[in-house]
Amino acid sequence: MYDTIVAISTPIGMGAIGAVRVSGGDVDKIIRNCLKKHKYESKKMYYGWMYDEDSPVDEVTWVYHSKPNSYTGEDMLEIFCHGGKLVTYNILKTIIKLGARQALPGEFSKRAVLNGKIDLIKAEAINSLIKAETPFSLDASLKLLKKNRLSETIQELKHEMINIAAEIEVELDYPDEVEIDSLNLKEKISDILKTVDKILKEADNGIIAVEGVKTAIVGKPNSGKSTLLNALLKKDRAIVTEIPGTTRDTIEESLNINGILLKLIDTAGIRPTEDKIEKIGIEKTLNAMEESNLILFILDGTTPYDYEDEMIFSRIKELNNKSVIIVLNKSDSEHFKLSNCPTKLFDQKFDIVTISAKNKEIKSLEDKIYEIYFEKINIEEPTLTNMRQKNSLESSRKYLLNALNSLNMGFSNDVVMIDVRKALEKIYELTGENYTEELLNTIFSNFCVGK
Ligand code: GDP
Repeated sequence: MYDTIVAISTPIGMGAIGAVRVSGGDVDKIIRNCLKKHKYESKKMYYGWMYDEDSPVDEVTWVYHSKPNSYTGEDMLEIFCHGGKLVTYNILKTIIKLGARQALPGEFSKRAVLNGKIDLIKAEAINSLIKAETPFSLDASLKLLKKNRLSETIQELKHEMINIAAEIEVELDYPDEVEIDSLNLKEKISDILKTVDKILKEADNGIIAVEGVKTAIVGKPNSGKSTLLNALLKKDRAIVTEIPGTTRDTIEESLNINGILLKLIDTAGIRPTEDKIEKIGIEKTLNAMEESNLILFILDGTTPYDYEDEMIFSRIKELNNKSVIIVLNKSDSEHFKLSNCPTKLFDQKFDIVTISAKNKEIKSLEDKIYEIYFEKINIEEPTLTNMRQKNSLESSRKYLLNALNSLNMGFSNDVVMIDVRKALEKIYELTGENYTEELLNTIFSNFCVGK
């Protein structure tokens, strides 16, 4: 039994209604003391006064949810009061006086996971639903929450791995009586891998839909990166200057293009430099390019393509799995020439658009971004939606591949067993069935208080 937690679950401020939630073993005591009710039923709404000892605190309605049929799986109480800053605070204070403590961010959801009410993937879907900034991220989170298909598939994978582990275990325990058909074992692991690969492939789109398209703006100094950033953000965010190399640090901003969320990383430009501060910026640029999903490569349409452009471009070509848009800037200038974008760039698979960042004429770029991402993030079926989930599944895949290799190389089954067990552990980590306190704390710390 955990201790009793309480939180104001509605935003702090004035509103028609405020909600305070309580979960844990002291709920009955709190109802008797504060709501003066000694007989009550689960899932029924009651009306009455809330008291701090004998002083009235507010006129409220409240619902009791008996364990295990509540969000957390524990006894819960939800109190709906007048939505003033002080009213909700006084209710919180009264309940804390009776022995409850203030809940940490996401602690209700954490308890729901610990008590087996929801898996970690669902808990994260609830969090991304609350935090959704675009219809696409809302939709992807809702699908994950509403449809059980993905959770079911992952549970099936888990059971198949458990069966394989059990089969090997039996052979290890009774080597004289049981012999495993290793061909059959290989087939089973290959089948699991196929499903894992499919989920991983779709995960990229789910992550982009929920977390946004990580976008790196790169280009030589003075090509117009900061000006473009400002145009995209439609406000003056980065400092625009005529001195090359002044955008030294990276700045992160998010931006919504017709429902597509971009996480912008503005960078310092790539070029050889002796300047120490600038070097940090350049390293960040390279990291940003590697981390990004989308690279906007800005060319100054008023100056010839030169070795600095070429240096950046050769880096871009080395990277895999990125969308790249070549952005020919300064179309408004009398010195602008289309030929400043060399024909060899047109031969690449990359898209090219012409813009004037200065005049905020960037529709061609916005349209291109929409065109590239609309289909990807218009999620049909539930997918994984964050890097944590993807990393767990990727690790599981790695161990399954090891197991398969060991089988192919004729290693003994106890070697195979080690990797199957590790692959299974990673699945448990994905669903939250095997957790470390640290993992749970990291995940739930970015939830809202009261959820
Ligand atoms: P960065 O070093 O790549 O971030 O470049 P900035 O955004 O600081 O721009 C460098 C210079 O180019 C500034 O003087 C801008 O006003 C100018 N500039 C940027 N975009 C345009 C554009 O679309 N047209 C014209 N004519 N000048 C631009």
